[in-house]
Order: sequence, then structure tokens, then C-alpha cells
Amino acid sequence: MRVLITGAAGFLGSNLADRFLASGHTVVGLDNFITGNPDNIAHLMGNPSFEFLRHNISTYTYVAGPLDGILHFASPASPVDYLEHPIATLKVGALGTHNALGLAKAKGARFFLASTSEVYGDPLVHPQRETYWGNVNPIGPRGVYDEAKRFAEAMTMAYHRYHGVDTRIVRIFNTYGPRMRPRDGRVVSNFIVQALNGEPITIYGDGSQTRSFCFVDDEVEGIYRLFMNGDAQPTNIGNPTEYTVRQLAELIVELTGTASPIIRKELPEDDPKVRKPDITRAREILGWEPKVPLREGVTRTIDYFRSLMGTPLMKPRA
Ligand code: UDP
Repeated sequence: MRVLITGAAGFLGSNLADRFLASGHTVVGLDNFITGNPDNIAHLMGNPSFEFLRHNISTYTYVAGPLDGILHFASPASPVDYLEHPIATLKVGALGTHNALGLAKAKGARFFLASTSEVYGDPLVHPQRETYWGNVNPIGPRGVYDEAKRFAEAMTMAYHRYHGVDTRIVRIFNTYGPRMRPRDGRVVSNFIVQALNGEPITIYGDGSQTRSFCFVDDEVEGIYRLFMNGDAQPTNIGNPTEYTVRQLAELIVELTGTASPIIRKELPEDDPKVRKPDITRAREILGWEPKVPLREGVTRTIDYFRSLMGTPLMKPRA
């Protein structure tokens, strides 16, 4: 297959490009580097099965030649990033999704949307099944991401129903691992980078809020299987083992051996209190479930961030 991946220089996009290439496919990567990092795809430059286009998918997009699949992964995904780029986040979920769907229709390609557990908002149902419609504040600071992704899902289903495009929607839960941007502001990267630098580890609120963390290799395998073997209904892909933020902080202190103190900061507005995927559907239709326990995945992520020590990427955000 020849597939287009938008956001190919991002954390998930670049790992996904590697997954497709490893199975013998050809990848066209597209990124405008708002939050993507050229280093994530440096190893692919010169690979005859990989082409790169520096472009903003929220504007008119032309790609030469046939395409069998389009995977739309472009978007800021860390709350800190989407608060810094609120309009670009809304545009890539809305206009970017529309452009990518239009391209899929024109090429007769399968379309795959990277959606999110954020469509469930601050959930009133726990764990979250795909049938839950969510509890989202449209005008809160997180609304720019949540509503863009909800619109993207609606647009994807409209192209599926009205134009007969073959579509997939994955709802991605918190994912971590190598190629995360050290200062992207998310909890796993923040805690590890703080621990390695001897900075205080910042728990927002009382740390009793929960997340369920999926190692990137597991996430990418689930996505790949959903692309190949799934159907048009949204599918949760995430790790159902739930931790409090405080437990995560304590694990990272233990694994890094840091002397950093754990401190408390204000809880961001609309921060979901709990999050955990019900992955019954992924198990049944894809035979997929995550394999890497948090302790192992965090150890591998610590090794990755250690390898970046001393580089500009590790500097605090301006
Ligand atoms: N969080 C935290 N300290 C940090 C960064 C995040 O306590 O330095 C908390 C945040 O308030 C949230 C959870 O960790 O409850 C996960 O945050 P993240 O930004 O990784 O993503 P989210 O799941 O909220 O989209």
C-alpha cells in the first residue's frame, strides 16, 4: 500500500510511519512542524519507501500519485500545546479533516481518523465504552481540542455515509514512550524530565485523578490492526490499567532514583477526574490488547529522555 500520514513528524505519526514501513508499505509523510519534530523522521530521510511533504493539512492539499490510505494524525495533542495553538487545533480537526477526507474520496483511499478519549470529556460513565457520548464543555479551554475531534468524527461518518468512503475512527487514550517531546507538557514527559533534571515534580490538584497509560508500541500495533481489519465504528485503543497521577509520580521517582521533591500545583480547568478505556471492542474485532506494563514502558521512556539530556529539546518552555 501507499499511505499518507499527516502529522508524520509527531510522536504517534512517526512511530506509525515506522510500523507501515516495517510491513513493506510506502509512506508519504506530511507535517508543518507546529508540534512535530524533524528529528523523529530523520532516520527515514533517504529511505526510498518514504517521501516527506512539509505542508499544513488545514490548507488545500495536493499529493501526486495513487494513495490506498490516509491516516490523519496531525494535531497538537498535549493540553499545553493546544492552549498555545487554539485556532490551529480547531482548524486541523475541522478543515484538516475535511481536506484529508476530500483527498481520500478523490484517491479512493481508506481514511483513518486519530480521535481521542477527550471526546468523552470529564466522563460520567466509567470505564468509557465507545457507546458513551461524553461530557464536554464546548466553551472551556479544552473545548478547542475536544470539539475539533468531535467535529472530525462527525465529518468522517458523513463522508462514510454520504460518499461511501471506507473510514476508521480510533479513540486514543493517554499514550507515552520514545519520541514524545520532552517539554510537551503532558504528565509522563513532565514527570520524567523533571526527575532527570532534579526539578520539582509537579502534581496538578491532589493527584487523585486517574489516567490509563498505553506504551506507544502497543498503541501503534492497535492502530495498525484497526486500519487493516477494523470497521467504521469508533474503537478505543488504550491500556485499561488505571493509575492515579500521584502513583505515576511515585513510580517515576522510584525508577529514576531522583532526589526531586513532589510538589502540588493548581489543577487545570475541566481536567477530567477519571479516564479508562473499555477495550472489549478492540479485543473482539482486532484480537488486540496492550502488552507492555507501565513499569517497563516508563523505564524505556526514561532511557529515551536520558539520551536527550543536554540537548535544546530538554530546555524549559519559553
Ligand atoms: N498533570 C500533572 N502534572 C503535570 C502534567 C499533568 O499532575 O505536570 C496531570 C493533569 O492535570 C491530568 C493528568 O496529569 O490530570 C494527565 O495530563 P496530561 O496533560 O498528560 O493529559 P490529559 O490526560 O489531561 O489530556
